[in-house]
Amino acid sequence: PREVLDIPFDNSFARLEGQFFVRQNPVPVKAPELLLLNLGLAAELGLDPAALQSPDGVAVLAGNALPAGAEPMALAYAGHQFGGFSPVLGDGRALLLGEIVDPGGRRRDIQLKGSGLTAFSRPGSDGRAPLGPVIREFIVAEAMQALGVPTTRSLAAVATGEHVRRQGLEPGGVLTRVASSHIRVGTFQFFAARRDIEGLRKLYEHVVARHYPEAGSPLDLLSAVLERQASLVCQWLGLGFIHGVMNTDNTSISGETIDYGPCAFMDTFHPATVYSSIDHGGRYAYGRQPEILGWNLAQLATALLPLFGEEQDAAIEAAQSVMNGFGDLVRAGWTATFRAKLGLVSAEDGDTALAANLLERMAEGGADFTNTFRGLSDGTARDHFLDPDAYDGWAADWAARLEREPQDGLAARLKAANPALIPRNHRVEQAISAAVNGDLGPATRLVDALSRPFEDVPECHDALTRPPTEDERVQRTFCG
Ligand code: AMP
Ligand code: MG
Ligand code: MG
Repeated sequence: PREVLDIPFDNSFARLEGQFFVRQNPVPVKAPELLLLNLGLAAELGLDPAALQSPDGVAVLAGNALPAGAEPMALAYAGHQFGGFSPVLGDGRALLLGEIVDPGGRRRDIQLKGSGLTAFSRPGSDGRAPLGPVIREFIVAEAMQALGVPTTRSLAAVATGEHVRRQGLEPGGVLTRVASSHIRVGTFQFFAARRDIEGLRKLYEHVVARHYPEAGSPLDLLSAVLERQASLVCQWLGLGFIHGVMNTDNTSISGETIDYGPCAFMDTFHPATVYSSIDHGGRYAYGRQPEILGWNLAQLATALLPLFGEEQDAAIEAAQSVMNGFGDLVRAGWTATFRAKLGLVSAEDGDTALAANLLERMAEGGADFTNTFRGLSDGTARDHFLDPDAYDGWAADWAARLEREPQDGLAARLKAANPALIPRNHRVEQAISAAVNGDLGPATRLVDALSRPFEDVPECHDALTRPPTEDERVQRTFCG
């Protein structure tokens, strides 16, 4: 491809010697068209929005041209998918263009997703992404960012002017994804499975330097990843978010949410909720996410074992004791998250039960997750229950508990912990269908509204807070 644009790349991953990646250029597309560009993120990255919007910029975002200094590559990784291990997965439809250190000093990966076949593409696959899932990831990742959740970011969504075959023929797209890195649990598993201890050690050193400079040993790294991931899953739970495909290749080492495939925010609360069309057993249901995450991190612990030194038995014991702490981390994080959602500043033993009891009543009462919690701030929570008495019974306990709390600023505390807006499935789907039919208005307006999720929603956006009607409800989400 042609070389255009001036992006100050500094490609630290490309300097690793070993089996870390396979160099590969993006496969050009027929008729690139820029649909969504994240101006705020462009500024954060120190990139010139006008340059990105120019024909050369759009060519880069589509994979039809390369910025000078880019070193496109497909990253190697392994992974447990639905519990089954694949020793080689890797970027089958994505390419890392390179890394930039942004003006704030943060190193970030710039990746194209949907950029064509690679050495890691699944047999029979196309290396491409349908436009719908590209727009979906753009919207949901940016919503997560605004909600305060660590996440990969979306810089741009481009239509390719080509079709991809999925359920039928669908328009294709390319997403420019930005991440603090694309290193996953599965990246460690890749080297461990090949018994490439030198590669494993290089990866460990790279990860420590890049993400966990305070970690002095593999055990420290394991503990630090556990902490970040425990905190992440508690944030998901506090927002009614279901990742949908928590395979070990989709569990990032940096602690960011990654891979917005069949993810969804719940409307009506129930812990067993599943949206993903491929999750038949409910393995990745809302309420199972902490347990699954613990399982994924145990795979990380296993992959790290060869680095723990001579004494394998002692190493296993040490890793085991770190893993044993995971349950406590999640329980503490869960209670802290839900305390905040109930407006509680102090900590009392009964708080976990108080929060859990509300959730039980919400599940029984068909309550909308987001609106019920937001409704705690303005007295409308009970309106979201089929049987408002179920709420009132709980609210009496909550009121008694609140008597031992500062009353000053209670409503503001509640609003700051309970968003008014989440990317509801049916709204995302409506924005996607409009975009696919050439109308970017709904997607643009949705992205804009979702950038201020904790503010009171102006009347013109009222419809965005409404749960879906029976006709609007999205039953299933897809990987793309
Ligand atoms: P995911 O389920 O998105 O985490 O992807 C799992 C694996 O399948 C990764 O190695 C992807 O690169 C690969 N993959 C997913 N979709 C495609 C596609 N359309 N073409 C090639 N590889 C793909
Ligand atoms: Mg993935
Ligand atoms: Mg995916």
